[in-house]
Amino acid sequence: MPRQIKIVENILSANDRLAEENRARLDAAGVFAINLMASPGAGKTSLIEQTLARLDGRLRVAVVEGDIATSLDADRAAAAGAQAAIQINTGGECHLDAVMLRSALEQLDLSQFDLLIVENVGNLVCPASFKLGAHASVLVASTPEGDDKPYKYPGMYRGVDVLVINKIDLLPYLNFRMDYFRRGVEALNPGVLTFPLSCRTGEGLSAWVDWLIHQARAT
Ligand code: MG
Ligand code: ZN
Repeated sequence: MPRQIKIVENILSANDRLAEENRARLDAAGVFAINLMASPGAGKTSLIEQTLARLDGRLRVAVVEGDIATSLDADRAAAAGAQAAIQINTGGECHLDAVMLRSALEQLDLSQFDLLIVENVGNLVCPASFKLGAHASVLVASTPEGDDKPYKYPGMYRGVDVLVINKIDLLPYLNFRMDYFRRGVEALNPGVLTFPLSCRTGEGLSAWVDWLIHQARAT
């Protein structure tokens, strides 16, 4: 095996072990965790804000913020209803890894939370390779990105547990073929749980929030 491939495999398996430790820590505290991934501008931060607004205190939420392009800081997440918000300094990295999440978890009293939302770095490539230990990996797609994304980023679409399709209010103004998009998704990730929604109009948000509540209460 080429040496470089071997090194990458070792890094990933070390990361997987740490991700399992993170998961065990979350499970022990009964915290349901999601890993939000997306390209920049798809609306991860808006989704977090709208989710917090609609939860309206029904779950105790911590947010871990890894998106280097975001303006959501601890104060803003708290203002939106998060009980805690931790900013991870990725040091310019283009993804979060399990070590970074572990250091964030160490700053939280997990017994105080029901739901942990991790906002990954905006990037459709490497975040898919680095497990964090979250219970669900959630991809936020958005209609202005185009309907070809599943075909261009199969690794990301194949690996996720949940797909959010944001900005559906813009569909009348875009050449986004939903059937073409969904065929691409279906080929890579058959039956993936999907929430079409709009953070701007609120359409579809309640189904997403109900799902989070259900998952958090079952964890
Ligand atoms: Mg963001
Ligand atoms: Zn990366």
